[in-house]
Amino acid sequence: MSRADPRRGGATLRKDKSVKKRIAFYGGTFDPVHCGHIAVAKRLLLLFRLDEFLFLPAFHAPHKADIKPSSAYHRFAMLALATTGEPQISVSTLELDHAEKRYTVDTLAEIIHRQPNDELFFVMGADSWSDIRTWREWERVLLMTNHIVVTRPGFDIRTDHVTDAVRERIVDLRNGSNAVNIDEPRDRIYITDAVKIDVSATAIRDDVRQDERLDNEDDVPDEVAKYIEKYELYR
Ligand code: ATP
Repeated sequence: MSRADPRRGGATLRKDKSVKKRIAFYGGTFDPVHCGHIAVAKRLLLLFRLDEFLFLPAFHAPHKADIKPSSAYHRFAMLALATTGEPQISVSTLELDHAEKRYTVDTLAEIIHRQPNDELFFVMGADSWSDIRTWREWERVLLMTNHIVVTRPGFDIRTDHVTDAVRERIVDLRNGSNAVNIDEPRDRIYITDAVKIDVSATAIRDDVRQDERLDNEDDVPDEVAKYIEKYELYR
């Protein structure tokens, strides 16, 4: 009998666990998932020669959050619609399944425990990287897996907010230096400008709230635009 794969709802564990895979996890709220997120997934799959790219939507306690995101069901549904035609891109329910807020350090510990042989990457945008010191056990988080920091228009990528020990592990792939050495050790922090798309979920929600419709349908995949319309999200 197959066991449920914790990385995705419903999928099953690989039969041959000795085959080492390169897998990226992309944490966030994804309210909604937009074309910036999808471009990051597609581009990093190629650039880092990944086998799989997993969106990892965060759980938000409905009664606790200052800014209330859409329900996990809506956010998951939009991610599933946006990735359905992409065999290497899936949605992990790992954080949603816990039904309480989880810190990245705990999520990564669980993932590593369940798939110790895989080469793991955790993906974040430039704004998340700026805030990294506010993350619980942030220095440990940065040692647990490789990380990929993706530039975002309007956000500078600084490195002066982290310690020397962290800075020494940064591999800067910006400005055309996109050759990723896949034999690097497992605790690298890659910075890449391979995606430069100026879209944000906050701007999309604000647009819909003001005009009761998406101003720019190109900001989200078609199926996500239809979903937002059908379920009257963000009004
Ligand atoms: P908001 O505008 O509400 O802050 P968001 O667009 O940043 O939302 P999130 O779900 O918070 O969406 O983002 C998940 C991750 O994706 C974060 O690490 C964020 O930095 C990154 N990200 C979001 N948009 C982009 C983009 N256009 N380019 C690169 N990274 C992005």
